[in-house]
Amino acid sequence: MADTPEITPEITPAESSEGFDALKQGKPPAEALSPAPLDEPAVRVGLVNPAIGYGLFAARDFSKGEFIFTEAPLMSGLFNETYAEDGTLIHSQHQSYRAALADSRFELNTAFPLLAARNGFPPLPFDTAQQVLNTTLGKNLVHGRLDTTTVSPGEYESYVTRFTAAVNPSDEDSRRAAREFFRHYAFQVQGGSNNNAKSSSNSSVELAAIPGPSSVAAAAAVGLSALGQHSTNEACIYLLGSLINHCCRPSSSSNIATEGPNCGWRIGPSGLVKFIQGPRHIGVEARRDIAAGEQLTWDYNKRDKGFICVCETCRRSWVGHYCKVL
Ligand SMILES: [Zn+2]
Repeated sequence: MADTPEITPEITPAESSEGFDALKQGKPPAEALSPAPLDEPAVRVGLVNPAIGYGLFAARDFSKGEFIFTEAPLMSGLFNETYAEDGTLIHSQHQSYRAALADSRFELNTAFPLLAARNGFPPLPFDTAQQVLNTTLGKNLVHGRLDTTTVSPGEYESYVTRFTAAVNPSDEDSRRAAREFFRHYAFQVQGGSNNNAKSSSNSSVELAAIPGPSSVAAAAAVGLSALGQHSTNEACIYLLGSLINHCCRPSSSSNIATEGPNCGWRIGPSGLVKFIQGPRHIGVEARRDIAAGEQLTWDYNKRDKGFICVCETCRRSWVGHYCKVL
C-alpha cells in the first residue's frame, strides 16, 4: 500500500507561527523549539481491512502541530525512481534487505507479509505476530511508544491468508521483491546524494546504527557515479513509519483542516525541530487535532503511482479517483 513518498518540507508552521526567523535572529530561544514527542504510548497497529492491510492508529489524542513519534530506520538503500531498474540500486536495496532480515526477521516478516512470502517465508503464527505487533515492532522508536495492537486472530488470518510463500525463490526473485518493496515503502532522504561532503561524518555514525547495510555507503559511491547525482537518493524503510497509509488531500483547501491526511513527516533535524536525533530518523507530526483511535495518514505525494485509491478523501467524493499511486 505504501508507495515511495518524496520528502516535502510541509512541516513548517512551527517555524513561522512562533514569529521566529532563524536567519535573522540566529540561535532560537528554547521556548521556540518544537517539543519532542512524549514518552507515552503513541500509536498502535491495526488492520484497516484485508485488502489495504495494516495501518497505524493514534493511541491517544494529539494536538495540531504535536509530534507523535520519531523512529530510526530499519534499512537504508539507494533509490531512484527514474533508474528503478538499475542493477546497482537493486543490489543496494537487496543487500539492505538481507542485512535487516538477519537482524529483524520477525519484525520484517510480520510487518510486510507480502515481502516475506516472496522470499519464501510463510505468515507467522498469530501468537508470534501479535507479540511483534505489541512490542518489538516499536524497537526503533526514539520518542513515543507502541501500544497494544487491535489486530484480532480472525483479522490476522483474513489478511495473511492471501499471501502464499514462494517455493525456493531465486536470488533474482528476491532482488525483484526488494526493489518493489523499496518502491512501495521507502522514504527518500532528501539531498542524500548531494550532501555527502558536509554530512559524511554524520552519515558514518548513522549508517553504523542501521542494522547491517554497511554496504550502503560503498554502494552509494558506486551508484552515484554511475547514475548521476541529481537523480539518485538514499531511501529508508521504517518499521512503523512505513505502515502509515496514504490519504489524498481534498480538492478544496477549505476543508483541509478537517479532511485529508492528518499527519506530515520530516526526516532528520532541521529548523526548530531539534529533537530528531539522526539524519535518517523520521518524525511524524499531527497536521490537525487527532483523536485516540483515528488512523494516521499522510499524502505520499508521489508522481509515479498507480492504484485505485480508496482513501477517505476519495470515498467522500463518491466516485473515487485514479490518483496514480503505485
Ligand atoms: Zn485517495
